[in-house]
Amino acid sequence: MNFLGRAKIILGFLLDCLFPRCCVLCNRKTDGDEYCNLCPSCVAKIPWIKTARCSLCSRPMGDEIESNSSDCALVCNECRDDPPCFSSGMSCWLYSGVGRDIVLTLKYRNADFLANDISKLIKNNCQEVCSFAANSVLIPVPLHYFRRVKRGYNQAELIAHAVAKVADGSRVVNALSGKRKTSQARLKRTERLVNVKNMFECSNATDAIAKDSKIIVVDDVATTGATVRECCRILRMAGFIDLHVLTLSYG
Ligand SMILES: [Zn+2]
Ligand SMILES: [Zn+2]
Repeated sequence: MNFLGRAKIILGFLLDCLFPRCCVLCNRKTDGDEYCNLCPSCVAKIPWIKTARCSLCSRPMGDEIESNSSDCALVCNECRDDPPCFSSGMSCWLYSGVGRDIVLTLKYRNADFLANDISKLIKNNCQEVCSFAANSVLIPVPLHYFRRVKRGYNQAELIAHAVAKVADGSRVVNALSGKRKTSQARLKRTERLVNVKNMFECSNATDAIAKDSKIIVVDDVATTGATVRECCRILRMAGFIDLHVLTLSYG
């Protein structure tokens, strides 16, 4: 290790002694080793999706499993009635409790520094996500320009980079841009489906992506799936065929 590397470690140690790191969710002291901004107690409460889930939208499935054939991939009733134009989807945890708190903190509390912990969380708990995203092009759901300027970052892009860090051979490309700024957050399902139409367009960055690449659209939360469905529709119109979806949370 060179002099600068050693100096960085010593400075980090001194800063940690002077200003102990606290959990961004509950303000307890973190152990600082594994996760810098989340305490072990909050990490233990993350509601990882470990049960059987819909292979398309990642919705955890209970009763519906009975009616599905064991030979084919599980598909929930909603996806069967209205099939999306992507081939598969994956979510890490449920959008509830600590799972919801992490997403909201990332989104509304200028917590872009959480990205590193999210990367480690996925690596330590979601190896299936690392394999799913390997050798893919990760395309974040875009924010409208003004919203991005106001927030300073796009949380979907942070998540995409956090995944790229632990998924071999993957890269992040901002291939979509937002056309309108209407937020989906306060809308009902039917309103969301209408609102999201023509909300996005392909950016010049799509030209550099091979059309047969494995494309994964990345977002923070899948609620109705309207946003990721629309992103995939635009990408399909641009000629991409191998489309998938990854969201940090589902709910
Ligand atoms: Zn905590
Ligand atoms: Zn589904």
